Amino acid sequence: MSIATLGKKLTMKKKYDVVVCGGGVAGVAAAVTAAKEGFSTLLLEKSNILGGLGTLGLINLFVPMCNGRGKQIIFGLCEKWARLSAKLGYDAIPEEWKNGEPKEYTEVRYIQRYSPYIFALQLMDEVTSTGVDLLYDCIACDPIMEDNICKGVLTESKSGTEYYGCKMLIDTTGDCDVLRRGGVPTVAGENFFTYAGKMISLSSCQKAIDTGDIRMAFTGISGGNINLWGDKQPDDVPKWSGLTVEEVTDYLVTNQKLMLSKLKEENRKTREITHLPMMPQFRTTCHIKGDYSLKIADAYKHFDDSVCAINDFEHKDHLWEVPLRTLTRRDYPNMLTAGRSADGTGHAWDMLRVIPPAILTGQAAAHAACLAIKEQTAAADVTIGTLQNNLEKDDVMIHFPDEYVPEDKTVILHGKNATEIEGGHM
Ligand SMILES: Cc1cc2nc3c(=O)[nH]c(=O)nc-3n(C[C@H](O)[C@H](O)[C@H](O)COP(=O)(O)OP(=O)(O)OC[C@H]3O[C@@H](n4cnc5c(N)ncnc54)[C@H](O)[C@@H]3O)c2cc1C
Repeated sequence: MSIATLGKKLTMKKKYDVVVCGGGVAGVAAAVTAAKEGFSTLLLEKSNILGGLGTLGLINLFVPMCNGRGKQIIFGLCEKWARLSAKLGYDAIPEEWKNGEPKEYTEVRYIQRYSPYIFALQLMDEVTSTGVDLLYDCIACDPIMEDNICKGVLTESKSGTEYYGCKMLIDTTGDCDVLRRGGVPTVAGENFFTYAGKMISLSSCQKAIDTGDIRMAFTGISGGNINLWGDKQPDDVPKWSGLTVEEVTDYLVTNQKLMLSKLKEENRKTREITHLPMMPQFRTTCHIKGDYSLKIADAYKHFDDSVCAINDFEHKDHLWEVPLRTLTRRDYPNMLTAGRSADGTGHAWDMLRVIPPAILTGQAAAHAACLAIKEQTAAADVTIGTLQNNLEKDDVMIHFPDEYVPEDKTVILHGKNATEIEGGHM
């Protein structure tokens, strides 16, 4: 099949069952899952390593994967990768969780802080050993649409403009860029003044030598340093949506200038920057306006079409289930998203977008895509029981057990009933 673009005729280079656009943790999870199910899978990644914000963006923490009372909620590929990362890079899994779910009650949370670059290499190994076709340094551009059906995607790379066909497309660019270009409705976000890298200093290196722990060698260096709540965001700094090249550049230049001015205050002989974030540390640019948007009010609710249970990384007890509908649009039958562009609002979206749920929604989107191909139906219309069985076989918890639900179901944030601040942060 050929298509005409910019006056040129492009021949389809290859047709895949599943094309995954973006190799962050969600995209890697989606690609590996689809390939393991036996479907031909292409993974397109615009940078030169896998992992997205979780590696390139220097966000190297699996936030808590439990309910804060010693019960594990997040399993699946996420737990597998948390443990894999601890084998070769840093191991920050707490003693209580070293051998799995603790036998005794504990409020110590199940986290893992890993080495970002070693984890990126391990992700590459996962992808290439499962038979995914990986293209690095390759940007997924416009999808080719016929009505609301995606026939494939144009790519830009060293090889020029190329066209790959697909039966199903999963957009894991983090920004919903490909779906947005295909006309899928999306919701834009706002991003605070955040840009954090890593550095070494003579004193931090000495600490590493004294303790025998290489992690001590690194300290932080930042441009803007505003937390996820936007507390203390300066009035004279914009909140960037990150949806235009000018905004991305303005965000980077503003932060890099501030970082440079901080460096000037230090003794140049005693310190060196080792890592700068190689992608903007935007929490959200844009997410799908899906068939359902997860809300705080959904806490502790069971959904018939749940694809995974998730917990709150800040607070004990709070639990949600993630409906398949947060990843799909019924009117775009062969396009889905996963990761931080899943549909949610306020605090519920903050809980949905972080690394552990991003991995699980990547797995869910891939299983939904594969099942849609098998059942010759839309991703939104697959047989939910079969989808859930497939996810359970991959060790994903679909519904949280009712005994984990506390008597008082109020979701409290910053000492307030959270429903009052719904939508306060996006
Ligand atoms: C400042 C900050 C702090 C955070 N702290 C934590 C934390 O401590 N713990 C935690 O769990 N989460 C944290 N998060 C959230 C978490 O890092 C992300 O939500 C999660 O990593 C998102 O994964 P993803 O795969 O959905 O998207 P991304 O990580 O954004 O991956 C998208 C990938 O797609 C690629 N891509 C983009 N466009 C294209 C294209 N057109 N073609 C090809 N490839 C493309 C990118 O290069 C990237 O590799 C934080 C986020 C930020 C910004």
